[in-house]
Amino acid sequence: MTIVCAMQLDRPGEPLREVTWDIPEPSGSDLLIEVAACGVCRTDLHIVDGEIHGALPIVPGHEIVGRVVALGPSAAGFQIGDRVGVPWLGGTDGNCFYCTHGMENLCDSPVFTGFTRNGGYATHVVVDSRFCLPLPDSFGDAEAAPLLCAGLIGFRALKRAGEGERIGFYGFGAAAHILAQVAGWQGRRVFAFTRDGDAEGQSFAGSLGCVWAGGSSEAPPEELDAAIIFAPVGTLVPEALKSVRKGGRVICAGIHMSDIPAFSYDLLWGERAILSVANLTRADGREFMEIAARSPIKTRTTTFPLSEANEALSAVRSGTLEGAAVLVP
Ligand SMILES: [Zn+2]
Ligand SMILES: [Zn+2]
Repeated sequence: MTIVCAMQLDRPGEPLREVTWDIPEPSGSDLLIEVAACGVCRTDLHIVDGEIHGALPIVPGHEIVGRVVALGPSAAGFQIGDRVGVPWLGGTDGNCFYCTHGMENLCDSPVFTGFTRNGGYATHVVVDSRFCLPLPDSFGDAEAAPLLCAGLIGFRALKRAGEGERIGFYGFGAAAHILAQVAGWQGRRVFAFTRDGDAEGQSFAGSLGCVWAGGSSEAPPEELDAAIIFAPVGTLVPEALKSVRKGGRVICAGIHMSDIPAFSYDLLWGERAILSVANLTRADGREFMEIAARSPIKTRTTTFPLSEANEALSAVRSGTLEGAAVLVP
């Protein structure tokens, strides 16, 4: 194939449009990747809906699994034919306060795959080799895709939740279905909160080892040490604060959330804390891929052809999929 086929966003609120262009030559430290699979993330919906604003037009997709087909002159660490993973963090300036203090996830001038640089809703993509990750061999291409954001940014959220044993997950989509397995493997007990009345989602959570599953307006059967909010729903913040013990943490794991309603200070009192999670560092990526290789986690995916990216986005929006949606060119 001598052309790239991609699904491109021209304007927020419009469907993605199929486009083609000539295959580019990678320059500098870049790699040209032939895409084997690309996960569909909730963040892609926020981009498509115009809730967060980046470059346009843009090809979304930041959970890319592919193989190297050409190397830029200074690309290092990968050979032609290698399978690589491409996550959300696609580049940093390397010299701002955050980059020089071990917080490159907060870089002042970042590059984000599928947001400020074209991503993986495509047959081919050019990426910076310095921000690519090796992937565990035990995962197939489609199965590995959700590890790259749902899994690894979810893992960053789990680390920020602290060492507590009893942990609540609000919203049981692509990220929670992976992190429930990681947390169980770590010896924690997971309490899953789905949309009220979502019996299928609750039984899916149970099948992944969660010790309790209920609606998000329900109180858990015991106080939690921490809660992670994966759903982009601000009203869940006071609900989660009610569920955590004194000193407990509530982690907001998404890039966008609807407004958080005013709530009584009593809910925060007792040294409870609300934290957000932003992006990832390359160290997070390497650490999580090692855990994915060592732990028994399995990802549940529903695949869509690349040309059905709009249908895949609708399926993620509806919240009815079990696990993660993945595009396959
Ligand atoms: Zn920086
Ligand atoms: Zn994502």
